Amino acid sequence: MSAYDPQNIFAKILRGEIPCHKICEDDYTLAFMDIMPQTEGHSLVLPKTGSRNLLDADPKVFTPLMTTVQRIALASQKAFNADGILIMQFNEPAAGQTVFHLHVHVIPRKQGVTLKSHGRETADHAVLAKYAEMIRAELQ
Ligand code: 5GP
Repeated sequence: MSAYDPQNIFAKILRGEIPCHKICEDDYTLAFMDIMPQTEGHSLVLPKTGSRNLLDADPKVFTPLMTTVQRIALASQKAFNADGILIMQFNEPAAGQTVFHLHVHVIPRKQGVTLKSHGRETADHAVLAKYAEMIRAELQ
C-alpha cells in the first residue's frame, strides 16, 4: 500500500486550500457535501488526522469519526425525510476508493429511488450549499 499523500484533495480541503460545502467541524472531524452525490444529501465525514484509508488509520480516530457519522446520519435522515441511511467506506482502488484520505460516505436513501453512479456527475453548487444548510439545521 502507498504512503499517505498530504497533497490529496481532502487534505487540501482540511487545510482550507480548496473550498467545500461544510456541514460541521470539530477538533477531530470535518463533514461536508460530496461534490458528485449519489443521492440528494450525500455527504462525507473525515477525520482530521491523515491516513490513506481505514487500513492504515490510527484506531483512535474511529470513535470521534463514527460519532460524527452518526450525528450526520441522524440529521440527514430528518433533513431529507429518508427511509434509510447508507454508510459506505472504500479502501484502495480495487475496492472503489478514489480519494486517499480516510472518509465515510453518509447517503440518505428513499425507498424505490436508485443510487446514482459513484463519483460521476458534479452537482450544482447552490444546491449543495442548500443541502448542507438543511443538514446543519437538523444537527443535535
Ligand atoms: P471514494 O471513492 O474515495 O470513497 O470517494 C471519493 C468521493 O469524493 C466521491 O464520492 C467524489 O464524488 C468525492 N469528491 C471527489 N473530489 C471531491 C472534491 O473536490 N470535493 C468534494 N466535496 N467531494 C469530492
